[in-house]
Amino acid sequence: MQPVRELARLLLPVSCPCGERDVRWCARCAALLAGPPVRTEHGAPRLDRLDGVPPVPVWALTPYTGPVRDVVVHWKDRGRADLDRLLAPALRRAAARIGPALVPALGGAPVAVVPVPSTGAARRARSREPVAVLARAVTHGLHDAGVRARLVPALVRRGAARDQVGLGARARGRNLAGAVRMTRRGARALGQRSVCILVDDVLTTGATLAAVERVLEDAGHDVLGATVLAATPPPAHESGIAPRSARDTGEESDQNLKV
Ligand SMILES: [Zn+2]
Repeated sequence: MQPVRELARLLLPVSCPCGERDVRWCARCAALLAGPPVRTEHGAPRLDRLDGVPPVPVWALTPYTGPVRDVVVHWKDRGRADLDRLLAPALRRAAARIGPALVPALGGAPVAVVPVPSTGAARRARSREPVAVLARAVTHGLHDAGVRARLVPALVRRGAARDQVGLGARARGRNLAGAVRMTRRGARALGQRSVCILVDDVLTTGATLAAVERVLEDAGHDVLGATVLAATPPPAHESGIAPRSARDTGEESDQNLKV
């Protein structure tokens, strides 16, 4: 057996992005992505609208640290599209858990699931749009929860935003907002007034989500929230994400599932 296995490994080396060999992803990494989704918007300073309105709710499956970071980087930028089969079901399950919390705000209206667009350069380098895979999974997850949802890839990047260096926070926000625009087709699909859920891979400062939120709101739509795979933990201890130790013990809390 062993020589055959060794040979197979040489021909088709597989390993989890964390380094675990002979599996496409390991049980430990899969467990980190098992949720539950938690609210993380307060860890993203750029989601602060500076107008007294609370930041848009953002649910994340897990902190963007350690092996999760490896998984996301390999999936997005190192040709590991096969990790779709790990990440998409994980986000689908998360969306199914978030769905019931959205129902009261929807009042029976369907929700538009809007992927955050990648830059043109990133899309060309990857020759695919990984976030579209996540957005499809969120749409399915909301359906699973009985929420009427439709995928609307309404936005594109305008090309390179101006260099951010030397710009203040507000100017940077405007600069980035200018780098996201709605397509004609997207505008038609969203119609007069849609309720939207945004989907992205990683929440860092929140600048991109804030820009997308602004573009949609300026067009008359409501952004109810966003779902992401992972969120960069804020430097302070008040991360809003359950500590790893609590996750490992299997303790789950739905207190963060409130809209
Ligand atoms: Zn792993």
